[in-house]
Amino acid sequence: MIKFENVSKCYDNVNKAVDSLNLTIEKGEFFVIIGPSGCGKTTTLKMINRLIDLSEGTIYLDDKKISEYNIHELRWNIGYVLQQIALFPHMTIEENIAIVPELKKWDKKKIKDRITDLLESVGLEPEKYRHRKPSELSGGEQQRVGVVRALAADPNIILMDEPFSALDPISRKKLQQDMVKLKKKINKTIVFVTHDMQEALELGDRICIMQEGKIVQCDTPEAIINNPKNDFVRNFFKSANVYRASLFESDYSVKDLVDEGFIGEIGDKEGVGYVNAEESLEKLFSILTKEENIKIKQNEKIIGTLNMEHLVKFVANKLEKDGEI
Ligand code: ADP
Ligand code: MG
Repeated sequence: MIKFENVSKCYDNVNKAVDSLNLTIEKGEFFVIIGPSGCGKTTTLKMINRLIDLSEGTIYLDDKKISEYNIHELRWNIGYVLQQIALFPHMTIEENIAIVPELKKWDKKKIKDRITDLLESVGLEPEKYRHRKPSELSGGEQQRVGVVRALAADPNIILMDEPFSALDPISRKKLQQDMVKLKKKINKTIVFVTHDMQEALELGDRICIMQEGKIVQCDTPEAIINNPKNDFVRNFFKSANVYRASLFESDYSVKDLVDEGFIGEIGDKEGVGYVNAEESLEKLFSILTKEENIKIKQNEKIIGTLNMEHLVKFVANKLEKDGEI
């Protein structure tokens, strides 16, 4: 658990880059911080691993103040991925990934096996890549190695600062998909900074929207879409095309979600109502603003249930694929 208590950062004694932040990030949560350039995202992130000192307030990690941790111990247990690929150019991929495990004095065999597993997990053939230098990899491949390196020593927390923003759209999409898979597999606390709402919607368990050093809204993607706190938040979604995103304008129907695998099992929480698979997304949306789950009927049979998360992820997916729906 990471807890911010009245945390502020002042670089110049005049403006607060981060202003009285109160925030709790739960263990295992994928927590996304989003907001326009200069709103304090990077500062917030770097205060967690003490790359930046706070001016006021306290940050706790598992109930202990971060200032009380040994700095090396703290850094080694927090993986960090940056926007710019920061691999060491003179070292091989294997050597780059091994840095923190070696600092932690893991034995050679354990490190080697770990690297094999990690490279495989992001689709890089270990024997092909381990002895290459970073310059022999594409941008997307290097960034994958950056992600893997942050995971290498099995940290409990991973901080990611716009890790995919320098990539071309295809590499970016692939890495986002890797992240979705990794997220399910590794169950780590991930704090992920982005300025891309589509990315935030796709990855975040919760999204924290910042403006001028303050939190504007912090909630699940579904709750924010259902209930944007003000025009700033609403506009942020608009910029991501999420509204135009044709919940209201597209030809997609409920069936399209189901066909793409967005469906849940029938539990005992659903009411008696159902929606037909031929219905529009607009209809589904309006139901899901009132009900947590709704059963789906296709060919006279109830085939499963949908919730707002399914809908949001489907729409986010389409936005990425089609530019807009
Ligand atoms: P973001 O990551 O959201 O773009 P930052 O956290 O990098 O924002 O910056 C927040 C504010 O703090 C900005 O106004 C920026 O100019 C200022 N700032 C960031 N780093 C420094 C620094 N080292 N010295 C002075 N001001 C800084
Ligand atoms: Mg930044």
